[in-house]
Amino acid sequence: MKNALEYIESLRSLKPVIYCNGEKIESVVDHPMTRPHVNSAAMTYAMAFGPDADLATATSHLTGKKVNRFTHIHQSTDDLVKKVKLLRKISQKTGTCFQRCVGLDALNATYIVTHKIDKECGTEYHQRFIEYLKYVQENDLMIAGSMTDVKGDRSLKPGQQADPDMYVRIVSKNEKGIVVRGAKAHQTGMANSHEMLILPTTNLGPEDKDYAVAAAIPVDAPGVIHIFGRQTNDQRRLQGDIDTGNAKFAIVGGETLTILNDVFVPWERVFMCGEYQYAQEYVEKFAAYHRQNYGGCKVGLADVIIGATQAMAEYNGVPKASHIKDKIIEMINLAETMYCCSIACSAEGKPTEAGSYYVDTLLANTVKLNCTRNMYEISRLAHDIAGGFIATLPYEADYKSPITGPYIEKYFRGRADVPTEHRIRMARLLENMTGGTALAESMHGAGSPQAMRIMLYRETNLKEKMKFARNLAGIKPIQAQGEEAAATKENK
Ligand code: SF4
Ligand code: FE
Repeated sequence: MKNALEYIESLRSLKPVIYCNGEKIESVVDHPMTRPHVNSAAMTYAMAFGPDADLATATSHLTGKKVNRFTHIHQSTDDLVKKVKLLRKISQKTGTCFQRCVGLDALNATYIVTHKIDKECGTEYHQRFIEYLKYVQENDLMIAGSMTDVKGDRSLKPGQQADPDMYVRIVSKNEKGIVVRGAKAHQTGMANSHEMLILPTTNLGPEDKDYAVAAAIPVDAPGVIHIFGRQTNDQRRLQGDIDTGNAKFAIVGGETLTILNDVFVPWERVFMCGEYQYAQEYVEKFAAYHRQNYGGCKVGLADVIIGATQAMAEYNGVPKASHIKDKIIEMINLAETMYCCSIACSAEGKPTEAGSYYVDTLLANTVKLNCTRNMYEISRLAHDIAGGFIATLPYEADYKSPITGPYIEKYFRGRADVPTEHRIRMARLLENMTGGTALAESMHGAGSPQAMRIMLYRETNLKEKMKFARNLAGIKPIQAQGEEAAATKENK
């Protein structure tokens, strides 16, 4: 396993093409826009050597060796529960997305789906994927799970788009491998990953065969271009440390728009090539695993937000006010509700035909749907308690200026025994964690709420629920009533 430093240094040997703010980033490790994201991901490596190593590591079912949990294929419900607990702990330390779960989920989804394709189509993707997995585990690689296509006109299927590149597709094949073209959007952790694992983004029909593709590609493969996303207040990183709120770790995952300009992939790294019938299951498996996470990582963030809100109340001298206590309790309730859902969908996980463990789909989708509301409500309550202060604070430079600094120091003090700087720093942290980019991520990360609603409807047995109600209400099903009437007639 790599430690945090070894991970960071390993990124230096890669040469991905990344553009940010009109410039090329030469080193993700050293550039101020990407370094905080590197630090967040590095925490997934550091944890494997810390006091929570039991959560952060696992035994590989392939080699029997100890591996970082972020490269592990779940072998039990205990593995699934540990994943959630681990994510919560990491978020408590980073206060932001640490990105590596997407790859973990893509690996686990691919493990299940390749097994199924092979069984039904006589292909050899699963064995190929196992070889790749060994390579990932041996080298403790960070994989960017790469699902979301740019999608163009949402009312049209991939093959119907005016521009055929709106979904990643296979443009040619030969005896050595395939060539893919298209783009993946919102790619969490891509800039500081070693490789990406691309997979389909939607269900596909026979006319979309060329879009049914799964493959592993190094982030610096020829033809790959990344355009780094902009986040709320990200330029503050270049101006000091107080105003960013979380200077070491930034906000959310450092997403990219990743363009695949006719990228060659050798057959050893191709795990689906044309089997469109399995695209939907692939998407659902990946999505459920990723939705499971949100009651872990977001709850860790909520822990920090609640802590910062309580601290603000204390700095303001009002921690005992009954309405403040009530709101803090509400925040705790909202956070722990998300956690309960994640633990539940993990504990209710089941073995797959491939031998790995998969979460309960219905409960996993419930986790994430709750997050799309609860994180907003938690943030709303944090703003309520922290006060308008978090929206009107002056620049860090003015706080540090000998002319204006003393005024800010004097007039922004809360309780006399708390330094003004503590109050400012805590407010900036809250601003960072409850602002635009962070909230939008809670809404759309792992899919939009509508995607979860569709799954909730699909996964729920409404007929059975109606039966429960009919039994109690003393109503026989209409068909049974008809049969009874016929039988009575015959008897007469
Ligand atoms: Fe992991 Fe959460 Fe970031 Fe998704 S949003 S990659 S689950 S930390
Ligand atoms: Fe996410």
